[in-house]
Amino acid sequence: MEKKVLYLLNMGKLFDELSKDYRFKEGFKTCINCGTCTAICPAAEFYKYDPRKILDIVQRKDDDEILALLKSETIWYCGECMSCMTRCPRKNAAGLVIMALRNLSAKLGYFTCSEKGRQLYPLTKVLTGNILKLGYCVHPDTYKYEDHPESGPVFKWVLDNKEEVYGRLGANYGRQGTGALRVIPKEDLDELQAIFDETGATERIDFVEKCSEQKAREMGMTMEEYGKYTFEHCSRGHFNDE
Ligand code: SF4
Ligand code: SF4
Repeated sequence: MEKKVLYLLNMGKLFDELSKDYRFKEGFKTCINCGTCTAICPAAEFYKYDPRKILDIVQRKDDDEILALLKSETIWYCGECMSCMTRCPRKNAAGLVIMALRNLSAKLGYFTCSEKGRQLYPLTKVLTGNILKLGYCVHPDTYKYEDHPESGPVFKWVLDNKEEVYGRLGANYGRQGTGALRVIPKEDLDELQAIFDETGATERIDFVEKCSEQKAREMGMTMEEYGKYTFEHCSRGHFNDE
């Protein structure tokens, strides 16, 4: 099955595909398995996650093991803080290698195999939707307190009084001109769309949606149910203390 996917995509071995990614080239030299990255990694403190093991798997160049990584939860635990990069005695950056693995997982559709990978759908939908519609990655007009009760009552108050609060903080919320939270002109949004089209981001967004639709069907959910479920649901077993 997997060989067929690679053949259809005119791709060789998974390791060779990873090696073409500029993040992989930049982030992986040679690993001596010292574990310094894991010791400094904040994600490893909470999740069942070990960047040392991931780099060790990758450097063994075993496609079966790399395939298991592409389908796994573990590549989605990294917070991309790059603390590992500052400490590695071999100048590796585990975070960049993880980015390359995530990219390949998304490109081949394996992200739907894991609970954390499936979160790519709601995140892509919300974040790229905000960028293309409003010109912002995160924007108060699309941030619903009901979806983020963890942000607390003070932030709810800010959202309920956003015109006044953002105005007093010096933003230009919802108006033309300059400044934070200004309305982004249509010609700039069109440029953003053109950049997405040219770089392959639009194609990637469509592919993520297509794979997610298939997974939603398998799980017997509508896309609305799937988006909400993948965003909110967290099974037991991801964390070190579980
Ligand atoms: S710190 Fe560098 S050399 Fe050590 S295990 Fe991590 S990636 Fe390998
Ligand atoms: S970039 Fe990822 S692997 Fe590196 S320290 Fe941060 S969370 Fe850990």
